[in-house]
This record gives sequence, structure tokens and C-alpha cells, in this order.
Amino acid sequence: MNETGKPFLAGASHEELTAFCAAKQLPAFRARQIARWLYGKWTVEPEKMSNLPDPLRRDLADFFRAPASRVADKVVAPDGTAKLRIELYDRESIETVLIPTPERLTFCLSTQVGCPVGCRFCASGEHGLIRNLTTGEILEELLLSSREAGQKPDNIVFMGIGEGLLNFAEFSRALEMLSSPDYFGFAPRRITVSSSGYVPGIRKLAEMKKEFNLAISLHAVDDEMRAKLIPDALRYPIAEILDAADFYCETAGRQYTLEYTMIAGVNDSVETAKKLAAIARKHHAKINLIPLNQAAGDFRRPDRKTIEAFETEISSAGARVTRRVERGFKRGAACGQLRSESLKKEEKDV
Ligand code: SAH
Ligand code: SF4
Repeated sequence: MNETGKPFLAGASHEELTAFCAAKQLPAFRARQIARWLYGKWTVEPEKMSNLPDPLRRDLADFFRAPASRVADKVVAPDGTAKLRIELYDRESIETVLIPTPERLTFCLSTQVGCPVGCRFCASGEHGLIRNLTTGEILEELLLSSREAGQKPDNIVFMGIGEGLLNFAEFSRALEMLSSPDYFGFAPRRITVSSSGYVPGIRKLAEMKKEFNLAISLHAVDDEMRAKLIPDALRYPIAEILDAADFYCETAGRQYTLEYTMIAGVNDSVETAKKLAAIARKHHAKINLIPLNQAAGDFRRPDRKTIEAFETEISSAGARVTRRVERGFKRGAACGQLRSESLKKEEKDV
């Protein structure tokens, strides 16, 4: 069934809810009650909205997609990290990862089905872009994840499948609703937007003038090295990316992080570490090292000694560096791998 005409309840504005109630000849306070379920209690299923009359709950379920997506698979690692495969209304799927630590719970969310950038080491881009997520779908990810976790997250990072800045209209509306006190009221400083360096998108994000954390997936110290990892079509020159990120820093008032996926023999030499440290110092950015999880292509993760030497070189050059803590899964650790495995299974089943 083609359901594309139905609006999403997650992401409905106060005006849309008021208009819906007015059309049903219901008083305006009903719209406020629905909004409180959605944005206060993070509940999207009308049947759970216990203070609404039955006919209204039925009308909501008829008129809206509420929700349109469902959790299709869940894998929980021994350390409690959970990966959800969320199936969308058209049977496409995306992933979210729920990462608990003693201090905080982080949700890692997707922004697209597949990814048009196609970084050669990443499972998300293997089949290109299938389609963009809508604002409602992005918000449903959050609501379904928090239902699975039994609590709201402390942090939200958009490091799942897709390049959110290439889906700017829908993604920015989700960011706006997430951070607006009129809706979710989630502090922008607890939200991280990760980008592979899509320059026009970084500049538009800056224009939102919100204090989101920005993570730039740099992975290289020069354009030649970067070209080995990222195809030409959507790859911008490093100098332009850093310019845009500096603009973000000035406009949004937030320093940024340089994400650096470490790959054996490509970007892991001590010489490269020196250059990376110099870039980070010049731009007041901190570096986050991510040892490769083998997912796509023939790339390998550097051995432990090489990673340590790289990290030490950066800190002794006076740049701030952290290493992504290895959590959760030995296999299928990178975002996009659960979806990719399910696609492979489907291919076999056909
Ligand atoms: N498209 C955005 C956000 C999603 S990817 C971006 O590229 O930033 C989030 C992060 O995961 C990126 O830094 C990406 O380089 C990293 N990543 C993707 N596949 C990986 C893999 N197989 N191993 C380690 N890091 C990976
Ligand atoms: Fe897309 Fe990011 Fe994966 Fe590159 S690393 S293919 S930009 S999701």
C-alpha cells in the first residue's frame, strides 16, 4: 500500500495537532495533551495515550502514521550496547545503537537509508543512497530507541547510517524540534552532528545558530590520501572543509571534533600523526581516533602498537586526542553493518 500521503505523528507541529483536533470538533486542550505525550513523555502510540478518549485514539491512529516504523531486530552485546534494526513503512531498514556507560546513555541515530557518499570502508554506503529519512522517521528512531532502553538518552549522536547534511531539509527540522523548548527541549550541546565534510551543509548547519557538537570525518591529512577512502563525487577539498568548520565554530560558538578512522597502511604513519596534530592545533579542534572495524573493502585495522604510537605522537605534539572506546560487538561493530547483513541475507533468500 502506498502510504506516502499520511503525516507522521512524531514530528507533528502544535499547529498541525490543533488543526487536527479542530477538524474533529475537539477542544484545543486535546492537542496539548497529545503534544505532551509526544514531546514530554516520548510516546507515539495512540493506544498508550491513556488520558485521551477511545475515539480520539482511534482517529489519531487512522489519520497519522503512529508509528510507521518498528524494531525488527535487536542484538545486545555483553556490555549492554544494543543495536536495533528498524524497519520503515516501505520495508527498508536503518539502524540505531544504544550505548550505555556508567555515566550516560547515548543513542546513535541514522539520517538516511544508505548513503550517497560511499566511503570505501563503510558498510552504509555500499549500495548507495536508497532514500532520505523524513523528519518523522528520524524522530521515531529516537522514540522507539527510548522505548527499548526504558529511558531517555543523555546524548544523541547522528553517526548511524547516512550523511544527514545531504538530507538537510528533513534532518534540520528534526534537529530544530529536538532542541526546541516547545518540543523535545533536548540541549543542543548533547546532540552531535557528524559529517563526512559536505561543505554547503556545514555552512547551513552553522546558520541554525545552535550549539550542536560538530564532528568532521577527516580520516586524512591531505586530499590525495583522502581520495583513497572517499570517492570524488561528494568529496570536498580538506581546506574548504576546515574553512566551513571554522565558520561553524565562529557562528555556533562551538569547537569541533575531527573524526579519524584509522586504516592500516593508508593513514596510520607517525609522519601522518604529526601532520594531523598540526591541523588540529591550528584549528583548535580535538581528534577522535576510530580504529577501523572491518566492514567494506579490503581495508584493515592497524595493529595495537601502531594505533598507540599514532596517538602518542599526536598528544606529544600538543593536540587533544581521544580514542573511541571499543564497545559492544566484535563483529558487525560499525553502524550500518546490521542493515548490511540483513540485505545480504535477503539477497541469499531471493
Ligand atoms: N556520514 C557521517 C555520519 C555517519 S558515519 C560521517 O561520515 O561522518 C559516522 C562515523 O563512523 C564516521 O566518522 C565514519 O568514518 C565512521 N565509520 C564508518 N564506517 C566505519 C568502520 N567500518 N570502521 C570505523 N569507523 C567507521
Ligand atoms: Fe556515508 Fe559516513 Fe559511511 Fe561515508 S562514513 S559512507 S559519509 S555514512
